[in-house]
Amino acid sequence: MFTGVSVAGTMTSLIAPGGRLVVDVGAQLEDCVQADFLCLTHGHVDHIGMIEWVLNARAMRKMPPQKILAEAPVLEHIQDLIKLRQRFDRWLPGFVPVEVTPGMEVDGPSGKKIRVFRSTHVTPTVGFIVGDRRKKLKAEFVGLPEKQLAKLGRSGVQLQESVFVGELAYTGDTTEDIFAESPEIASVQTLAIECTYTQPDKLEKAKPRGHMHADQLLSKLKEINFSNRVQLVHFSVSVKTEDRIATVQKFLSEGINTVTLDSAIDQAAQAGLSKP
Ligand SMILES: [Zn+2]
Ligand SMILES: [Zn+2]
Repeated sequence: MFTGVSVAGTMTSLIAPGGRLVVDVGAQLEDCVQADFLCLTHGHVDHIGMIEWVLNARAMRKMPPQKILAEAPVLEHIQDLIKLRQRFDRWLPGFVPVEVTPGMEVDGPSGKKIRVFRSTHVTPTVGFIVGDRRKKLKAEFVGLPEKQLAKLGRSGVQLQESVFVGELAYTGDTTEDIFAESPEIASVQTLAIECTYTQPDKLEKAKPRGHMHADQLLSKLKEINFSNRVQLVHFSVSVKTEDRIATVQKFLSEGINTVTLDSAIDQAAQAGLSKP
């Protein structure tokens, strides 16, 4: 699962295990400087606000340029920022732009693949899945005896196909429509997904604002029989600690393996549930 920080409207940076890949640079974290791959979901300031600082820190330390994976408008915005920044700072940070579009698959760190999917928000947004390509027996050959498979193989029949296995995904800011827009996220082992609101009076407001309410998320997860782990991120500051704990408990009691970015909240939720 991811580590990092995520507060709606303030900052989000999620660090994948191993530290070589970070999604979004809204937080001033050293991890963002150290990562070789920066995946940017969209252009809102709470998701890319620290990009100048990251590129500057990287350039000053003479570290090799990072790959920045983002849609074209976000990459253009970063180029513009660099031009503006030269008014005051003479550094010339380099980065390797990787323009992404939904459906694309790019090479990631340590032999991993990064898949891009369309997210649903008020501005163009993509999500990222980190995973592997694996060989798998084609469905039409499953269950055939070994001898028959070997014979088919010898005769030149292609028995295997390459499939993408998603380990970790982050949707970026999104709404409950994400499950219809990009159903592939349901099969990822750990799905980090925004859960901005939990309060009843925010239920109607979430979607028009391009966000997700915990109740909407829970009902969608139940609807699709979600069986993997969900990581709730992007809580609004207006959601108090006790409400976050209660939300995790609610998800857990519905049989959904649920964590946040805060282990204290996760532990409190687990402890509360195990009480007699
Ligand atoms: Zn946000
Ligand atoms: Zn946003």
